Amino acid sequence: MGVNSTPDAACPECGRIQKLRPKTTGGWIRLEPETVPAAEAKDETLRWSITADGYAVAGRGTGGKCYIEHRRVCSRRRHHPEHLGPIFVARWLRNRSLDGLPIEGITAEP
Ligand SMILES: [Zn+2]
Repeated sequence: MGVNSTPDAACPECGRIQKLRPKTTGGWIRLEPETVPAAEAKDETLRWSITADGYAVAGRGTGGKCYIEHRRVCSRRRHHPEHLGPIFVARWLRNRSLDGLPIEGITAEP
């Protein structure tokens, strides 16, 4: 039994349609669609991979790549995610740009 046919759902903050993945620990997670180099997610708990049967698992990547959680780089996030690593800032800036939101005057998380 697998869950590779996962529902698409809009992010409640930015409205972007993304796949929701069930977590092996219960609950669901919205991941960014593209992988990033796993080494760029400083903390292993920020690295997500997808099992062959479609579950999201934290703590590792696959082949040096991993997925990152959408909410950490959502364009509607008010402070940049600098403390998580440069790749999170890069994705967040891209998402802000795609949604036409300003990046000037943004501060790091308090
Ligand atoms: Zn969002």
